[in-house]
Order: sequence, then C-alpha cells, then structure tokens
Amino acid sequence: MSQKITSQQAIDLEEKHGAHNYHPLPVVLTKGEGVYVWDVEGKRYYDFLSAYSAVNQGHCHPKIVKAMTQQAETLTLTSRAFYNDKLGLYEEKITTLFGFDKVLPMNSGAEAVETALKLCRKWAYEKKGITENQAQIIVCENNFHGRTTTIISFSNDAEARKNYGPYTDGFIQIEYDNIDALRAILESNKNIAGFLVEPIQGEAGVYVPSTGYLAEAKLLCEQHNVLFIADEVQTGIARTGKMLAVDHENVKPDILVLGKALSGGAYPVSAVLANDAIMEVIKPGQHGSTFGGNPIAAAVAIAALEVVEDEKLAENAERLGQLFRSKLNEYIENSSICNLVRGKGLLNAILINDSEESETAWNICLALRDNGLLAKPTHGNIIRFAPPLVMNEEQLLDCVRIIIETLKQFEK
Ligand SMILES: *Cc1c(COP(=O)(O)O)cnc(C)c1O
Repeated sequence: MSQKITSQQAIDLEEKHGAHNYHPLPVVLTKGEGVYVWDVEGKRYYDFLSAYSAVNQGHCHPKIVKAMTQQAETLTLTSRAFYNDKLGLYEEKITTLFGFDKVLPMNSGAEAVETALKLCRKWAYEKKGITENQAQIIVCENNFHGRTTTIISFSNDAEARKNYGPYTDGFIQIEYDNIDALRAILESNKNIAGFLVEPIQGEAGVYVPSTGYLAEAKLLCEQHNVLFIADEVQTGIARTGKMLAVDHENVKPDILVLGKALSGGAYPVSAVLANDAIMEVIKPGQHGSTFGGNPIAAAVAIAALEVVEDEKLAENAERLGQLFRSKLNEYIENSSICNLVRGKGLLNAILINDSEESETAWNICLALRDNGLLAKPTHGNIIRFAPPLVMNEEQLLDCVRIIIETLKQFEK
C-alpha cells in the first residue's frame, strides 16, 4: 500500500489525527541517504539535526539496513523469557568496546536513564548502606534526560514539567558546570547515591562545561562513594569527536547511558553499562523490558558500532568540527545576527542575536530549509547544528556556505 501524498496533505493529516506534542519545521521527508534527506516534492536537504544525533552513521547506512533486514527476516523478538543467538554477541561487543563488565539493554534513551536511576538507588541501599528510601541523586539545572514521570520530576523546564505532578522524590538539583556546588552537596549530605550528568548539555543549547569539570566531578564522586552517571545518549557514539564525550577528559563513568546513535537511527536501542560490583544488584525479575535486547536491536547495534569504528567517525567529527567552528568564527567576527558558535566535534550550536522569545531563530531555520539545510532551534535563540558524521569536507564547506549566506539575509 504505497500512497503518494503532498507535503501539505501529510502535514494536514498529522495536524488532524496526531497529538500536538511537537511543533515540527514544515518539511515532509520521505527518503534519506547519508547526509541527505529528501522531501516528498523531491527537494534535497542536508540534515543538520540527525534526529537529535541518532543518525550519526548517516541515513539508511547500507550495512546497518542489511543487518536489520536480515535479522527481521529471521527472528524479531523472543522476549527475555528465552535466550536468542544475537544478544550475547552484542553484549560482548558493546562491553568490550566501552570497557565495562556488563550491559543492560533497553530501547529508548529515557528508559535507559530510568534504568540507571533504579540501578543507582538499589546499589545505594544494598552496597553503600544508605537507609531505605533516603537515597538522593544529584542532577543539574537545565538537564534533559527524557520524558518519563520520574525524569521530568527533576527537570526545571516548565514546559516539560508543569501539571504532570505529583513528582518523584529523591533528586537534588545543582548548577551545571559548578564544581563547588557539587562539592558542597557531597560534603554536607551523607545520603547521596549518584550524580547524573550530561557531559555536554545538548537540549539546553549545547552547553560545553569548563575544561576539567567532568574529571573533577568524577574525582569528587569517588571520594564520597557516589556513582558518576554519564548520560551520553546524545553526546556518545562519536558525536563530539571521541567515542564518548567523557573521553575528552579521560573520565570513566560508573554508569554509562547510551541510546540514539547506538542503532544509527534505524531502531530504538539504548543501553546501561556498569561493572559487576554495581550491575549485580539487579537480579532476575527486578527490572526488564519486553523489547530490550531483542535480536533486531542486537544485530542493528553491532552493525552501528562497527560502522563508527570502521569509518573512523569520531576522528571525522573532530576534524570537521574544528573546521566548522573556525569558519563560523571568521564570519561571526563581523556579524550582527550571530554572536557565538560553541560545541565539540560535530555537536555545535550558534547563538542568534535576539531575545529568547523572538521568532528569529525559527525564521532562520525556515530560511535554511529553503536554502537546502535542515536545523531546528533548541531553546529560543539557539540553533543546534549536528549533521551525520559521515559528512566529508566538501559537503561541510557547502553547508557552511549555506549557513553563512542564510544568516546574512538576517543581518540588520
Ligand atoms: C534524547 C535524550 C534522552 C532521551 O532519549 P529518548 O530516546 O528520546 O527517550 C535522554 N538523554 C539525553 C541526553 C538525550 O539527548
């Protein structure tokens, strides 16, 4: 049943029949390949969002698609009531690659964060010896960790949180990138189980913490027997120029949370990694997921990780990220519309010189679309730029040209 519809028809259908929990840029995509996507009228765009960094390996990577379709024709789901012949291979691959004893497989990023929180609490009661129901987990202001009731309980984004109460207890919010705030809490509160942090705050607007922050935070956590939980759902899998963003500071998290590009955008695959001393607190029946660790997810994730290694995507992200920021910095020097470019690897953002409430960043994204490049504002006046990591230099320079020419249309 292949029914051709126009962009406007597709938008109208979603408007009429879908919940309005998103505000998409008006463009209707029908095909993707590598760094490109096409709309239903056949216009081609550079994808500068990469599905929030899920499509690091590029759209419809042939190796990932092949792994997925082959597995889909063989065995899709057994549940964890039985073993399957792909999960163990995947578990071996991912634990070896990231240097952890064990992985707990889930599907969405939010589920993996929830898993990490449950694991951390259970560890706190059974290993650290915190009194039952007293454990606290430190989180950062302006965090984004997903959309479940517990996760939005410790968000300070009013849109994400308001009227979803009552909220889950047991979280303490501190300022991001403020090592003194972390130290003060750790020294004054004996019930801290973990510190949950994004190595770069992606959704908040690509906030890169000061050099040394993550390493110091990890050290403080060690000194206080507190688990350092890195949410690398967006920053992980080569996005920032290293396999993990914490690798920039040689930090080894106690619990690592991955998602998004773990499947190259082909399938929802997320993971929680930890060593035995932590992971062993979860025993049969105490946590799970019907789809977590299914054979398609396992086959897809193996392929997706191999692509990252084989195609040296971290190195490419590092090199092209430097080039991107240097080119944009040249332009920004004399720009009235753009104030700043920041980021690491190919996770970058620009600040638009207008108020957070203004429509300017949105209008710039519409103009970028018209000029063949898709991006979206994160918060008000910040536009995130995160192309697939399979981009080459010539394509990147073409994109820089489009971005600068578009920004120039908005110069006053
Ligand atoms: C996207 C994201 C999540 C949530 O992932 P979902 O798959 O949307 O549930 C969690 N943490 C971070 C840092 C993310 O960017």
